[in-house]
Amino acid sequence: MRMYDLIVIGAGPGGYVCAIRAAQLGLKVGVVEGREALGGTCLNVGCIPSKALLHASHLLHESQENFEKMGLMTSPVEVDWTKMQSYKADTVAGNTKGIEFLFKKNKIDWIKGWASIPAPGRVKVGETEHEAKAIVIATGSSPAALKGVEVDNEGGTIVDSTGALVLPKIPKSMIVIGAGVIGLELGSVYARLGAEVTVVEYLDVITPGLDTEIQKQFHKILAKQGLKFVMGAAVSSAEMTEGGAKITYALRKDDSQQSLEADVVLVSTGRRPHVEGLGLEALGVAMTDRGQVKVDAHWASSVKGIYAIGDAVPGPMLAHKAEDEGMAVADVIAGKHGHVNYGVIPAVIYTTPEVASVGLTEEQAKEGGRKIRIGKFPFMGNARAKAQFQGEGFVKLIADAETDRILGCHIIGPSAGDLIHEVCVAMEFGASAEDLALTCHAHPTVSEAVREAALACGSGAIHA
Ligand code: FAD
Repeated sequence: MRMYDLIVIGAGPGGYVCAIRAAQLGLKVGVVEGREALGGTCLNVGCIPSKALLHASHLLHESQENFEKMGLMTSPVEVDWTKMQSYKADTVAGNTKGIEFLFKKNKIDWIKGWASIPAPGRVKVGETEHEAKAIVIATGSSPAALKGVEVDNEGGTIVDSTGALVLPKIPKSMIVIGAGVIGLELGSVYARLGAEVTVVEYLDVITPGLDTEIQKQFHKILAKQGLKFVMGAAVSSAEMTEGGAKITYALRKDDSQQSLEADVVLVSTGRRPHVEGLGLEALGVAMTDRGQVKVDAHWASSVKGIYAIGDAVPGPMLAHKAEDEGMAVADVIAGKHGHVNYGVIPAVIYTTPEVASVGLTEEQAKEGGRKIRIGKFPFMGNARAKAQFQGEGFVKLIADAETDRILGCHIIGPSAGDLIHEVCVAMEFGASAEDLALTCHAHPTVSEAVREAALACGSGAIHA
């Protein structure tokens, strides 16, 4: 048994960042992680492996679409799937080992195994019980199940996102159930690698929650890239066939029963908090009706000394939201003032083009009864984007009509996931659209499109 100031359960982006920050603040910290590598869902089976495959498949697509136009003559680039998988695995390993290094550097103990909380202040791993003045639950989430569909990642035919990252071969056809971020990213990967991808979605729109104008443009662009969409379809079952799998669904508009077959079915209908086995019910920890740990403004649960962060609590299921909560709760436990500004959490979809957003959508701003001004600028007016064949998409900046304060920004286009951050910083500083418009942006960069959108909120963009 060991005594700790803090034991964190789970070494995902929430848990490991919390541990490092707490150690930096002088606390004696242990982290329990049951997986064989640190880094959680994000590093092992989420953000990082998916981005490696997105990067490789994007370059393949570039070689097919744009190389010749730039005078780069190659015989067709071929895909070695085994090598692409090793590149992905090396990328993951490099990052997870990096966290091990940071743990050693900060004198954080990695307690290997699965944890439960037999009583406040106690954490049990295997047969050993440890004592801790504070406990942070950072156990993350797992793919949500879909009634009537049994996932078998080992089999490689009906898979969730974890199985889709390690398919034994590139399928000729793939059905993606669910048009959310994960389904569209992984669907894009396999579409670029040559699979015929059909996305089957219950709602009538893709990526619910995004600004409607961006949703529509994104849908159009993905369809142009060859992804097929079946919208308003309630999937009721998926079964294995001789060569792959077949799904059955009812079209919501007329209740007609339909079916579709493909080599692989990817179920990506969301994620649910992972808190099983911790013993929270016996402890009397209050939960939300969605199975998340209920926390107050300082991430404290209903039981004294037990805190929770990341995907295990309400809010967007994003790695950087988990990280921010990890840092903030460490500050709180160390007696400082931890804070997360939930109004300024960016969200990014790493397709090509990328999609990024922060703050209020046009619909949310109007629903809230605000008078707004919208500045839009198309990437077709941006020299750098055009030179890179990335003129598709636009920046949409939303400002308060009276105060000019920036309320939100939505971008579909090149490097959207990086561009969004200048707006995040501006929003953190309470900046106006004019502040952004008066900030000199280097030429030629795609970031000029953000400035032009800010100019469009005032007297007008220059290049539109
Ligand atoms: P997790 O990362 O889920 O980590 C929790 C850890 O706790 C796990 O390692 C688990 O093994 C461990 N654990 C659970 N229970 C116990 C226990 N009882 N004892 C010991 N250990 C335990 N987010 C982004 O922001 N950007 C992206 O690009 C992105 N891409 C994604 C792509 C995919 C395919 C997926 C699946 C997710 C993606 N996400 C992305 C979401 C992101 O991975 C999660 O939001 C993030 O990992 C949540 O962090 P966390 O620390 O709360 O939990």
